[in-house]
Amino acid sequence: MTTRTQRMKGTLIRLETAVGSKDKEVRKQALRIKPLLEKWVGRLGLTHWQIKFDMCTTAPRTEGDIAWQTHMETATMWPYMDSLVTVYVPIVADLCDDDLEKTFVHEMCHILVNEMCAVDHGNDDSGPREERVATQVATAILGAYSMGYEHGTESAKARKTKAK
Ligand SMILES: [Zn+2]
Repeated sequence: MTTRTQRMKGTLIRLETAVGSKDKEVRKQALRIKPLLEKWVGRLGLTHWQIKFDMCTTAPRTEGDIAWQTHMETATMWPYMDSLVTVYVPIVADLCDDDLEKTFVHEMCHILVNEMCAVDHGNDDSGPREERVATQVATAILGAYSMGYEHGTESAKARKTKAK
């Protein structure tokens, strides 16, 4: 398992600072992350967690497998309800808004399920298992959200038609 310090090679800028950064790309990506935080943290019941976001100015080091790119990664200390999300600026810059939101929700799901996966002490297999669970839970959440959104849009249309 790689640790955060092994993978990083760039400068880290805390989100609160990054939104006002002189670096145009860092600022642009921070301003895309901030509304996602406002949209999802409360909805996912994570308001009482400490969740810090660091914008990393470089891509993570790859380890032989260049087919996979890490967009963000989350380190969680679940007993303290404390998480640190690293956002790789050059990598997330290539994501469309939908994919950025999917990635964001996926990272939040790591926070939700990390405690369960940590039960697997010493089992080196727990990393891929947590990935799969986070992906599945994120898919379920985003599916339910879009179903609610579509329902709301239809209701609003019906109300408009009625009002005419
Ligand atoms: Zn993941």
